Amino acid sequence: MQQVDQIIHARWVIPVEPAAEVLPAHSVLVRDGRITAVLPTPVATRDFTAPRIVHLARHALLPGFVNAHTHAAMALFRGLADDLPLKTWLEEHIWPAEARWADREFVRDGTRLAVAEMLLGGTTCFNDMYFFPDEVAAAAIAAGIRATVGMIVIGFPSAWARDTREYFANGQAVHDRYRDHPLIRTAFAPHAPYTVDDDALRQVAVRAEELDVPIHIHLHETAHEVAEAVATTGLRPIARLERLGLLSNRLLAVHVTALEASEQRLLAKAGVSVAHCPESNLKLASGFCPLAALTAAGVNCAIGTDGAASNNDLDMLGEMRTAALLAKAVAGDPCAVPAHVALRMATLNGARALGLEQEIGSLSAGKSADLMAFDLGGLRAQPVYDPISQIVYAGHRDQITDVWVAGRRVVEERRLLSVDEQDLLATAERWRARIDAR
Ligand SMILES: [Zn+2]
Repeated sequence: MQQVDQIIHARWVIPVEPAAEVLPAHSVLVRDGRITAVLPTPVATRDFTAPRIVHLARHALLPGFVNAHTHAAMALFRGLADDLPLKTWLEEHIWPAEARWADREFVRDGTRLAVAEMLLGGTTCFNDMYFFPDEVAAAAIAAGIRATVGMIVIGFPSAWARDTREYFANGQAVHDRYRDHPLIRTAFAPHAPYTVDDDALRQVAVRAEELDVPIHIHLHETAHEVAEAVATTGLRPIARLERLGLLSNRLLAVHVTALEASEQRLLAKAGVSVAHCPESNLKLASGFCPLAALTAAGVNCAIGTDGAASNNDLDMLGEMRTAALLAKAVAGDPCAVPAHVALRMATLNGARALGLEQEIGSLSAGKSADLMAFDLGGLRAQPVYDPISQIVYAGHRDQITDVWVAGRRVVEERRLLSVDEQDLLATAERWRARIDAR
């Protein structure tokens, strides 16, 4: 008998890679936070023992979701301003609210709330863009979730930084502070082409190369953004980013609507990844990302929830289903983005977009044990012909019962082990009262 730290026996294991594979009656072995093997359960029980053994007789075990784009702290703005176009929503509601409220304490409390929601929904890694990324990192570490925090750059002052120089300096300090932490990575996060000038974008390209980190930017969120860019700069935003040296496999472009065919080819050729946020795009009527066409062109497409102010939840399971359904409607093709491809977008493609594909996103020996257990034993999931189809097209996040990050169990039978839920509820209510009183 060989010894490992933890053995998880499951009715099904869905490794994501190879594509569409479902392994009945398999077990995942974990040692030092990493997967050491995925084996048929009879082999695992014959050859291995562990101090911790988990039996998931009615569950599928799969990799945790990678939320490829969010603004976690905006969870405290959930429902603050709905049913508005992007420009009005941003300029008359969100930016003023951020100017008033988005200080260090807000980011700390908002991120704690978001992280709790994400963990309960099976998300084990998120890519964040917000002020005070040091607070985002601290909240992620406290809850035991993996995060890529954004070294934000934006062309106006905030409580986090006064000008471009300070945005870069403060971002660099966060990078230095967390560079060796196992759960935290950094990315440059220039907000959008229309809020960051050429000089700052050039600096982002150079510094991202030096630090070997991704670049995370909103790009082509609406046709209006593209038209305004042409009017003010003479260039479409993608052409401008190409000219400034930002189109590369470091770039994670968020939203990407209003695309010309030549731009799809350009993104594919440059190795750019896309973070598709279908529910935010639908709610703000931003436009449609041509997900099936981008995938066919070879672009790595991941899925993000965007912030809770424009979604209004951080539910990657729901987001994945919306992505799969919307892709079919946009392409006019029911075969576009089948269930197993949608699942891959929500896991392994997100990992790849963040440069973490060797570390997370699928279940294979050597990768970090970032896992979720999905209960398919209830009435709503019967009968189970195809577990992947059940999860993508009929699943609800309440069926996610257990979550592990780097082998640490952070959710057990739908209860958060790393977060004080009562304290968090009281904190959220305190912020609601403060913000409502204005
Ligand atoms: Zn966003």
